[in-house]
Amino acid sequence: MSLTFENVTLGQRVLFGYGRAARNLGAEVDRLCARRVMVIAAPPEAEIADRVTTGLPVVLRHSDVRPHVPVEKAEAARAAAAGCGADLLVCVGGGSTTGLAKAVALTTRLPIVAVPTTYAGSEATNVWGLTEASRKTTGVDDAVLPVTVVYDSELTMSLPVGLSVASGLNAAAHCVDSMWAPRTNPINQAFAMEGLRAVVDGLRRIARRPDGVDGRDAALYGCYLSGVAFTSAGSGLHHKICHVLGGAYDLPHAQTHATVLPYVLELNARGAPDAARRIATALGSATPVAGLNALREELDAPRALADYGMRREDIPEAARLVLPYVPADNPVPVGIEELTDMLTRAWAGEPAQDREVD
Ligand code: NAD
Repeated sequence: MSLTFENVTLGQRVLFGYGRAARNLGAEVDRLCARRVMVIAAPPEAEIADRVTTGLPVVLRHSDVRPHVPVEKAEAARAAAAGCGADLLVCVGGGSTTGLAKAVALTTRLPIVAVPTTYAGSEATNVWGLTEASRKTTGVDDAVLPVTVVYDSELTMSLPVGLSVASGLNAAAHCVDSMWAPRTNPINQAFAMEGLRAVVDGLRRIARRPDGVDGRDAALYGCYLSGVAFTSAGSGLHHKICHVLGGAYDLPHAQTHATVLPYVLELNARGAPDAARRIATALGSATPVAGLNALREELDAPRALADYGMRREDIPEAARLVLPYVPADNPVPVGIEELTDMLTRAWAGEPAQDREVD
């Protein structure tokens, strides 16, 4: 059979280097001829933002960042950007901070330089998200893709191991879901599998030695690849489920991804044997679910949706909310029964079941 596919690679500059964020960010601000920089950073990341933005022409520091970008926070940040006459947005922080910068760029068309401090991977995508009345809306617009990403693993040293694990498994979920997402193709699959290998290697090293540069570098490199793969392949079943749960029940993003992933893998591996084999290889295991279960055990990964505030009685509604978003070309058919079963087990933290890949 001939190889036929369509792939879009987004144009973005990436500057990667331990201890180089301030220097690389300064050079980017100069290259872009920016004179009025609006820095977006949440209060916990204020010290990191101070460190990397010293000497830049900063006209405003905006710190009102919330998870899942509530619409009113986006509107306040847009007004602040207009009020200070910003010509460049610099966001320093996790996916919530990048998300707020994207919401500003969506309406103002201002360029973004992103300085990520977690492994969310949002900085590599042209996807924006906003939450209103417990419902999360996402969209795609090239204006929200940061023109440059400045990666510096020194900025992730303060990310505790538990949060690193959850965030890294969020990146792993981008990689796994890319293998069957609507626009999956050989290019984004190659990024996804190298991303998964690097994230897994990075997380194992971080768990052993949290202050080791090699582990932090590997996780950050893998997280970038995961974002590139995800933005090219699109949202598969896993992302659709997590997106609905996050918006409807205000669950923490990374932990939700980390908890749900084994169940989607268990289900979809049956209908996607080639992807399953490749995922197993990236995890260093004979089968994908066994590999992920072992990794989760080793890393003491987030386990149950119940631990994050979801109630058992939310499950039927959650399954109904997810159903319309199930991708038409998911490798196996998914109805209300499969969703209810998966959510019930993810809620309780029951281990995903392994199965030999044919
Ligand atoms: P987050 O940005 O909310 O950060 C999680 C926590 O980590 C926060 O308390 C933050 O203060 C803390 N933190 C961040 N960096 C730290 C550091 N270096 N040291 C110590 N603490 C640190 O969460 P997240 O998981 O990074 O991002 C989740 C958000 O990103 C969600 O809203 C999600 O929808 C979005 N996202 C979007 C895309 C996209 O393509 N649009 C992709 C992935 C994630």
